[in-house]
Amino acid sequence: MILPKPNRLNPEQVAEITAITKEFGCHVQPIIGDLRTIYAIVGDERDELMINRLEGLSYVERIDRIQSPFKLMDRRSDLANGRLTIGGVTLGEELLIIAGQCTIDPKNPNLFYETSAAMKEAGAHVLRGGVWKPRTNPYTFQGDNKSLDILMEASRRTGLPVDTEVMDEEHLKLAIEAGVDMLQVGARNALNYSLLRAIGKAIGDRPQTSVLLKRSVHMGPLNEFISAAEYIAAFGNPNIMLCPRGTTPTLDGYRNHPDESATPLLKEKTWAAVVVDPSHSVGKAAYVPAAALAAVAYGADGLCIESHIDPSKGIGDDPKQAITPEVLTKLIKQAKQLWAIRRE
Ligand code: PEP
Ligand code: MN
Repeated sequence: MILPKPNRLNPEQVAEITAITKEFGCHVQPIIGDLRTIYAIVGDERDELMINRLEGLSYVERIDRIQSPFKLMDRRSDLANGRLTIGGVTLGEELLIIAGQCTIDPKNPNLFYETSAAMKEAGAHVLRGGVWKPRTNPYTFQGDNKSLDILMEASRRTGLPVDTEVMDEEHLKLAIEAGVDMLQVGARNALNYSLLRAIGKAIGDRPQTSVLLKRSVHMGPLNEFISAAEYIAAFGNPNIMLCPRGTTPTLDGYRNHPDESATPLLKEKTWAAVVVDPSHSVGKAAYVPAAALAAVAYGADGLCIESHIDPSKGIGDDPKQAITPEVLTKLIKQAKQLWAIRRE
């Protein structure tokens, strides 16, 4: 990783480091941070001669060689100095609340507008709404491009940034063009490396875009989760939040096995913010507040919660696991109190 002396290098300097790394079979990937841009050397960066030549350049502060399977996401990486601010909240300084429907019903935009207004009123900082849905059953509702317009209209009406899941590169393109602020990578796609790469690269089109990376139920060790995030960072986007959302084998009675306890373990390894999704973890509205508070107690930086103005009228997961705005309002209040206690 090349740490430059100025905040970012000029095109001639980038061309020079690119030419040097190319001689050694590597290439350079800029990682645009909020404070400065750093330059990852992609490829085998161990060649001493390459390192010496790069370190000899007047505009290079130093070359960081972290021996870690995820050198950009590692706690010791220079990226750890960056700060991610979303919807007016700087991660780590205030609890981030992402809330909204699992799924936007394209036939009933008003429901989503009402939910959105209620999320803002309850104190959410980011609005979530599923436009495209990964469904186990191919004959159930799969999402609709029309819902993207509804999502962006809700963003305009509330002034809140929005989060939606992209399942392929076509969704990614549409979401970036529409101005979606936070791209969600779902549990099913968290191991889809070509999608992770494309999401990393997409930051070039919109530098403020952040990524909420869910933990796949198929991920084994936590290193696998952090390595998935490394893909996104290595291809250009460091604005990543890790999202435990329950894993397998399922704890009898819950939808998955709640894994908010992974939070402190992740934080030992990586600087990335941890935003826990208690909704998919337990899968039932009645258990969501306890799982959410447990996540805060474990050190979560934020929560991503499914909530609906009238869950019985919802589609997708909403009838069973969305909490009402009243429950959300109380939960946010308690979560903030717990956040303050945790920091005493
Ligand atoms: C969702 O957020 O609605 C969703 C499908 O989540 P996951 O990918 O965690 O199952
Ligand atoms: Mn859902």
